[in-house]
Amino acid sequence: MAATIFYGAGEYARVNLTCWRDSGLNPVCFVDRDEKKHYTKFPGTEIEILPLSEAISRYPDYKIYISVSPENAVAVHNHLLESGVSKERIDFAGGGAFYKGCHMLSTGYFSILQTSLGIKFRACCCPQGPFTFTTSKDKDDLIHELLKCEEIAQELMDKHRNNESCVCDGCANLIDGYYSTKRRIQKLVPDGVYRGERCNVSCIYCNAKGILKNSKDENYFSYDEILDIVGEHIPDNVTLLPGAGEFFFSPNKEKIYEIMKNKNWHGLFLTNGLIFDKEAADMMRQRKASIDISIDAGTRETFAKIKSVNYWDKLLANLEKYAQTGGYIQLKYIFLENINDNKTEIDGFFDVAVKYASAVKIAADMVDMKKRSTPLSENCRDMMKYFIETAKNKEIPLRVDWRVFDYDKELCDELKQALASC
Ligand code: SF4
Ligand code: SF4
Repeated sequence: MAATIFYGAGEYARVNLTCWRDSGLNPVCFVDRDEKKHYTKFPGTEIEILPLSEAISRYPDYKIYISVSPENAVAVHNHLLESGVSKERIDFAGGGAFYKGCHMLSTGYFSILQTSLGIKFRACCCPQGPFTFTTSKDKDDLIHELLKCEEIAQELMDKHRNNESCVCDGCANLIDGYYSTKRRIQKLVPDGVYRGERCNVSCIYCNAKGILKNSKDENYFSYDEILDIVGEHIPDNVTLLPGAGEFFFSPNKEKIYEIMKNKNWHGLFLTNGLIFDKEAADMMRQRKASIDISIDAGTRETFAKIKSVNYWDKLLANLEKYAQTGGYIQLKYIFLENINDNKTEIDGFFDVAVKYASAVKIAADMVDMKKRSTPLSENCRDMMKYFIETAKNKEIPLRVDWRVFDYDKELCDELKQALASC
């Protein structure tokens, strides 16, 4: 039997080692690019960390399992191929297969968009992606549409894996990576099923204003009803992404917490970070929730300009409290031309990120990207690449919100190249 080598002796491997061992993977050694780790022992074990060449020469009959986060796995995969390791010898410790696929499908995104025109189920957030639509108020019809949407999503995943042409052709979210092969709803996004949602700030790029306004529409089902109906047909360990507007300011918050507790769902709270929510912090402490905060700035002046409020200190104080829970915090940077596309803002953002972020995410103003007829300026594009390089240098996992950049294929390619060269 081939010797198991893990590539990546960092935090991700430390957190997941027990789970991987339980699934039958027992590494004979680790490999890491960081020379300082070579010939030391992996934390808490007697397993040695070696340079790649040494590991291969000691264990010529080997299989390498990539043990870095999924975001960084592609770069390691490519590095291994360039180092002469054949693709048959490479796998991802977390499972899945390597192909040009879509993380929204494989990580189980599923949204319910309730409008005055009917109910739309979507397995991704792109208009051309898999969706079903019904104007029926019958519960069985609803379930039927949900299951049909899931079937279409699985068919698409199969097509991606077999490299077949499909409706996703050309979508920026279609990228090389390790993906699961079986579709399963994991992230439930009940968009547009709220009434009375609101926000405590007014960001210059806010695209939720329409949703907030439409939330007065007559709904087909109440929030509880729709989550109950859908909840019967999805797995228990789903993550709920609630909220249009600022979730911690929502009049529906307590009701949503109750539903989550009853159903044992996790929460991914999209927030501007200006309200410290004790219940969310408790959930983070129990690893039942994580938060995603758009900061978009590195100085108090620019933060105030973007958010319309002068609450930089409050943000930092809340981040400190959320970080004390040990929970997962993703900090987002929405690029805005001539406002935050400069090194001062990006460096300031990373001063905050190194203290508090589990991961950072790069995005742009979606409304602006959709309607603009000229590409983003060269400076803005360069600063996005600078952001990517900085994340890499600071060893903070990075995500890109590809759907935002979908309107500029050239920029997508530039960013993908910048990511690959990190
Ligand atoms: S590749 Fe694009 S269109 Fe296809 S499912 Fe993913 S996000 Fe939707
Ligand atoms: S925090 Fe979100 S919902 Fe509130 S104004 Fe900003 S973008 Fe809009």
